[in-house]
Amino acid sequence: MIPFKYHQPSSLDDAQSALTQERCMPIAGGTTMIDLMKLNVLKPTKVVHVRSVLDESVETKNGFLVIGGGCTMAGLADHEAVRDRFPVIRQSLILAASPQIRNMATIGGNLLQRTRSPYYRHTDMPLPEEPASRFGEGVETTLLAVLGNGGRLVGMYPGDFAVTVTAFDGQLELSGPDGVRTVAARDFYQVPGESFQYTTLLQPGELITRVKLPISEPLRNSYYLKVRERSSYAFALASAAVGLQINNDQIEAAHVGIGGLGSIPWHSPEAEAALIGKPPTDATFEAAADAALQTANPPLGLEYKVPLAKRTLIRAWKTLRDQGPLSDEQLWAMQHGRS
Ligand SMILES: Cc1cc2nc3c(=O)[nH]c(=O)nc-3n(C[C@H](O)[C@H](O)[C@H](O)COP(=O)(O)OP(=O)(O)OC[C@H]3O[C@@H](n4cnc5c(N)ncnc54)[C@H](O)[C@@H]3O)c2cc1C
Repeated sequence: MIPFKYHQPSSLDDAQSALTQERCMPIAGGTTMIDLMKLNVLKPTKVVHVRSVLDESVETKNGFLVIGGGCTMAGLADHEAVRDRFPVIRQSLILAASPQIRNMATIGGNLLQRTRSPYYRHTDMPLPEEPASRFGEGVETTLLAVLGNGGRLVGMYPGDFAVTVTAFDGQLELSGPDGVRTVAARDFYQVPGESFQYTTLLQPGELITRVKLPISEPLRNSYYLKVRERSSYAFALASAAVGLQINNDQIEAAHVGIGGLGSIPWHSPEAEAALIGKPPTDATFEAAADAALQTANPPLGLEYKVPLAKRTLIRAWKTLRDQGPLSDEQLWAMQHGRS
């Protein structure tokens, strides 16, 4: 870790003007920043503690759930409206990280977590320049992307909540020295071009000040199913953020996101198109899962993720169809294989 200065801003304006300085970065809960600074991956010479100047409220307003960028993961998961009405939001938060991390980590910081691949986190571990003839041969591929990799070896986006935000058409409010703008989460994350991991539309000095999610029937009838190596405190091998509106034995609206595979939080319009207007049968779900994974391009060793992601999606849709949204008790039972 290199020496750095710490700035406690008195206001959002103060934070934003400090952040226009070179090598100055925001820090919120610090649960990603401190790790990456210790590893010498991020090397700011100044950090600005933005958490205290960010809004941390959660409210429903004009058909949206509006979340302050400074709200903690735990604060959002436990908010009454979220707990009672929006299962996919609560589940994608409480199945992430640990209680200690969720108490510190903010929604703004959560959306900007980095790939966990060692090729990013360990500066002495360069990605082999020209992999052999088979895609990924001789490479530690475990945490690389299967979707949105453009045929290159690129880092997988590891987070959970951003998959929900992207799937359910969330918007991000960005505030910077030039004012406030709103961008769709689906545009905010950009698949890696030349870079090893995703980039975003965030400009220097800009902060994520709010996240807005449109309130819809699929957001109420929703499920975040996370498959991981152990049943707690682990990143997703594959996850499904799904919501369905079913009327008269027909799917009228659907939202589909996939975690654990994409270079960015993955939204699948292909799966949504394969669901909408169809009856909620096993055959419909299988066709939609095939559509969702059509563009998958797994590096060597990650081939298993394609059928795993399909089964995860199908299981999530069947659960919603057969049981509806899960209570916390049902969720824990499902996650621990006791259902
Ligand atoms: C052991 C471990 C396990 C974890 N498991 C999971 C998991 O299973 N699922 C999951 O989703 N996550 C997991 N995480 C990641 C965790 O959720 C993130 O570290 C956390 O959400 C980051 O939030 P933060 O407020 O601490 O961000 P910080 O560490 O403070 O910041 C993260 C990044 O965001 C930037 N930033 C912070 N706030 C803003 C803002 N408002 N506007 C613009 N930029 C900002 C910072 O400059 C930095 O680049 C895990 C983390 C750890 C350490």
